Parts: sequence; C-alpha cells; structure tokens
Amino acid sequence: MIHEIIPVGPLQCNCSIIGDEATREALVIDPGDDIEGILALIRKHNLQVKQIVVTHAHIDHVGGAMKLRAATAAPILLNQNDFALLEMLDAQAAWIGVEPPGKVVIDHSLKQADLVKAGSLTAEVIHTPGHTEGSTCLYFPAEKKLLAGDTLFAGSIGRTDLPGGSYEKILRSLHGKVLALPDETIVVPGHGPLTTIGKERESNPFLVKS
Ligand SMILES: [Zn+2]
Repeated sequence: MIHEIIPVGPLQCNCSIIGDEATREALVIDPGDDIEGILALIRKHNLQVKQIVVTHAHIDHVGGAMKLRAATAAPILLNQNDFALLEMLDAQAAWIGVEPPGKVVIDHSLKQADLVKAGSLTAEVIHTPGHTEGSTCLYFPAEKKLLAGDTLFAGSIGRTDLPGGSYEKILRSLHGKVLALPDETIVVPGHGPLTTIGKERESNPFLVKS
C-alpha cells in the first residue's frame, strides 16, 4: 500500500493519499488545502484518484475537496450528518482566517460499515460522532491502520465545543468503536503525529479508566 501523509493548510490537517501498488487506484482523505501539493504526490506515484473521503466537514479537512474533484473527477464522500456544517463554510473560513472555498457538493453519504475501495485496498467506515455529528474514521483491516480524523489524536481527543460537538458522544464513539480495534493498529490522526490504539488505550488521559 502506498501511503503519503501531507499536512495541509494553516492548521496542518493530515491529508492522506492511499494507493494500490498494483492497480494505481487511490483514495485521498481530507484534502483540506494545498491541492497542488496533493496532485504532485499523485503524479509522483502515477495514481488515479477514485474517491475523495472527508472525515468531517470542518474547513481544514474539506476546504480543497472541490478543487481536487475538478482535477480528478473523483466523487466526494462524507457522512450526511455533517451536511449542515457545509452550509457554514463561510463562517468556518472566517474563524481560521482563510478564503471561503465556495459551495461543496457531496456525491455520496458515508455510513457505518460502508466499504471504501481502491484497487485491492478496502477501508471500513466507522461512524464516530462527537467531534461533529457526522465524523467518521476509516479503518483498513488488512493493514491494521486507522485514519481517525479529529476523533483521536496522540495523547488527546477531538474538541467538542464547536457546533455539533458532544463530549458524551465522542467518548461513547471512542470506547465503543475505536478502542475495539486491535492494539497494534496504527492511528493516523487528523493533525499531529501518528500513534497506535494500544498506546492511546494505555496512556491517553481522556481514555484511561481510573
Ligand atoms: Zn475538525
């Protein structure tokens, strides 16, 4: 599996480019910004983008999705519970001081247990409300890798004080779904360094049970 992680935009959202080495089919997850940089990596690996997955509708994760869709003709996937946040992208842009990206159109809604494929690679959609109502994680069982969006970070969890956030729900998502994954699962958070499920189970102050 080809996996490039490129931090994009002023908030350095971890955008992932995941490709099948045999078929060169690829997924791009969270193209928040810097579409030129993302396209350069796609060209470098000679990939064809089949789907654009957005873990949640915060501007730092979705801001570049329409530009990438225009460049690749790949559909954009997002859980429908975050569609309301797409109507607030102008306000979100003002919060972080970036240009509003214009209207974002979602091609398909993602729901719990959907499968997202590129060549021989398969990811399972895990619906993890809490950071936003429509937050999802993508789990690649064969590679034991989790793209966690802003649900889980190394040593922290997603903030829940923005519209649609709920501390009770994010804890329920984390304990009920995310921590059900094997300890050796590599976690690629929406921002910051990689970690593992085992490490977070052991030491994340929001998750350890006293
Ligand atoms: Zn977010």
